[in-house]
Amino acid sequence: MRGRWWGLAVTAVIVFLLVYVGLNYLGQGNEPTISYTEFSRQVDEGNVEKIYSKGDAIQGQLKEARDDPDGDGEYTKFKTQRPAFADDDLWQSLDRRDVTVTAQPVVQQRGLVSNLLLSLVPIVILVAVWIFFARRIGGGMGGAGGMLGRKAPPKPVELRPGTQRTTFADVAGIDEVKGELDDVVDFLEHPDLYRRMGAKMPRGVLLAGSPGTGKTLLARAVAGEAGVPFFSASASEFIEMIVGVGASRVRELFAEARKVAPSIIFIDEIDTIGRVRSTGASVSGHDEREQTLNQILTEMDGFSGSEGVIVIAATNRADILDPALTRPGRFDRVVNVSPPDRGGREAILRIHTREIPLSDDVDLVQVARTTPGMTGADLANLANEAALLAVKRGQEQVTASDLSEALEKVQLGAERTLVMPEEDRRRTAYHESGHALLGMLQAGADPVRKITIVPRGRALGVTLSTPEVERYAHSEEYLRGRIIGALGGMAAEQVIYGVVTTGAENDLEQVSNIARGMVARWGMSPRVGRLSALPSDAQQAYGLAAAPATLDAIDHEMRRIVDECYEEACLKLRDHRGQLDALAQALLENETLEEAAAYRIAGISRLTKKEP
Ligand code: ADP
Ligand code: MG
Ligand code: ZN
Repeated sequence: MRGRWWGLAVTAVIVFLLVYVGLNYLGQGNEPTISYTEFSRQVDEGNVEKIYSKGDAIQGQLKEARDDPDGDGEYTKFKTQRPAFADDDLWQSLDRRDVTVTAQPVVQQRGLVSNLLLSLVPIVILVAVWIFFARRIGGGMGGAGGMLGRKAPPKPVELRPGTQRTTFADVAGIDEVKGELDDVVDFLEHPDLYRRMGAKMPRGVLLAGSPGTGKTLLARAVAGEAGVPFFSASASEFIEMIVGVGASRVRELFAEARKVAPSIIFIDEIDTIGRVRSTGASVSGHDEREQTLNQILTEMDGFSGSEGVIVIAATNRADILDPALTRPGRFDRVVNVSPPDRGGREAILRIHTREIPLSDDVDLVQVARTTPGMTGADLANLANEAALLAVKRGQEQVTASDLSEALEKVQLGAERTLVMPEEDRRRTAYHESGHALLGMLQAGADPVRKITIVPRGRALGVTLSTPEVERYAHSEEYLRGRIIGALGGMAAEQVIYGVVTTGAENDLEQVSNIARGMVARWGMSPRVGRLSALPSDAQQAYGLAAAPATLDAIDHEMRRIVDECYEEACLKLRDHRGQLDALAQALLENETLEEAAAYRIAGISRLTKKEP
C-alpha cells in the first residue's frame, strides 16, 4: 500500500510541474522584454501595431521586426513595463498613430475555453491515475458497488481456430484421471442419457496431486475437448485487498457459467482459499478468504444438479483443504493425480520430444527407466534442457549424452565452479562414499546411481539413489535403511576424521523427517503406539495435535531410532573401511562415478543385493 501512495504522490508532483511549465511557456516568456525607452522610440516611429496593457505592464506587437537592442536577433512581439513616474502622454501618442490598445494581458487572449481546458488538464490526469490505481487495488469494487474500475464479466476460454489448443493428446501417463474427466465431458455432451438413467453428475471434481503432475494441463485439455464453454480462474485471482470482492467475483463467475450451461468452471490452486479455516487466523486477508470460500460453497449448493455446471478444481495440497469442500454435493469426486509410472514417463517423454530431433542412440525407454519419481513437468524440463545443450554444442540432433547430462543437471542441480581446497575435497569424497557405501550394503535399499564430488547447487557433493521400480509403500526396514544411508556421510567423517563438519545439514533434515514420520504418523514406534500423533502438515503447530507427554515420547523415540541408525552406520563403515577408502580414492581421481563403476570399486554385486 505504501508503495502505491508514493507512486501516486510522485506522479502528482510530476504532472503539476509539467503543466506549470507548459502554461508558463504558452503564456509568456517567449517574447523578449524591452526597455521602456525602446518602446517609446517604436511608438514614435509609428511601428507599433497593437498593445495589451494591464496596469503598467504592456505587451504588444510591432508592425515590422526590429533588432533587439539588449538581446540578439529580431523581435516583433515584446513586453515592457511603464515606469510609474513616466508622465509622457502615451495615450495621445498611441491614439495619434492608430495603435490598437486593449486593456487586458495577452495571457487571456487564448480565450476562456482553452484556458478552462488547460486548467482542467492536471485534474483529468490525476483522476486517470487514481482510477488506474483503484483498478489495481480494488479490481472491481464488487458487483454491489459497481463503481469505477469495474472489471468485465468473466468470459469462457475462447478456442480461437488459429491457435493450437491443448487436447488429451498432449497429456500422457495419467489415463485414469483422463477417464474420470472423460465421464464429465461425456455427461455434458449427452446429459439426456444420464438423466434417463437417473444418474446425477458430481458437481465438483477435485484434482489433487503434487506440483508438476499436469493438473493445470489437464484442465486446459478438458477445455480443448469439451464442446461446452469453459471458464478458468486461479483462486488467487479472487483474493484482493478489499473484503467482499472475491465473493462477488465468484458470484459473477457462476452466474455467467449458468447463463451458458452446460459449462465447466475450473478453479486452479484452490488451496489458497480452501485451507482449513481454523488455522492461520491472524493472517491478513483471512476474512476475505473465508468469504470467498463460503461463496463458492454456496454457489455449489445452489446447483440443482441438472443445470449442467461442473466445477473442476486443482490443488497441490489436498490434505490441508477444508473438509467442507470435499463434502458430498461439493467436490465429492477427488481424483488423485500422481507422478507417472515408467510407461507414463515414456509416453510423456515422447510428447515432449515430438518437436526435438533425436539421434538414433537415444533410448527413451531407458531414460524413462532412470527417472522414477519425476513428474511430467520435470520430464518436460529434462527434454528442454537436453535440447538447449545440443544447441549450445552446435549439434543437429539431441544425443543420448545430451540427455544424460541434462538429467544430471535436473536431478543434482547445476554444476558450480568452486575451487575447493584439497582438504575439503578429500573430506567430501569420504562423506559421499559413506552415503554410497551404506546405500550399497543395505539390502533392499534403492541402488546408488551416481556419486559425485563436483559441487552442485548448494551441495559440495551428491550421491543419487533412485528406486528400480516405483514404490508405493515402504517397510520399516527400508526406512531405517534410508536413515542409515543419509547418516552415512556424517558417519564417514566421524570414522575417518573423528570430527563432524557442517556439510550434513541437509542429511539431518531428511533424517528427521523420516524419523518423525515413522514415529508419529506411521505407527512404527511401540512407545508412541499406532496413532497418528502429529499432523502431516508441517505448517500446523505441533502443540495442538498431541498431549505434551506424547510429544515427549515422540521426541524420545525419534532420538532412539536415529541413534541406533547412527551406531549402525559407524559400525558398518568401520567394518568396510577398505571399501570406503577405495571409493573415496576413486572419487578423488574421477570426481564422478556411475552406478556400474561404483559397485565394481566397492566390490559389491548389484544382483546379490536385489530385493528378496
Ligand atoms: P500442475 O498444475 O499439476 O502443477 P502443470 O499442469 O502446470 O502441473 O504441468 C506443468 C507442465 O508439465 C505442463 O505444461 C506440461 O508441459 C508438463 N506435464 C505435466 N504433466 C504432464 C503429462 N501428464 N503429460 C504431458 N505433459 C505434462
Ligand atoms: Mg498448476
Ligand atoms: Zn551428505
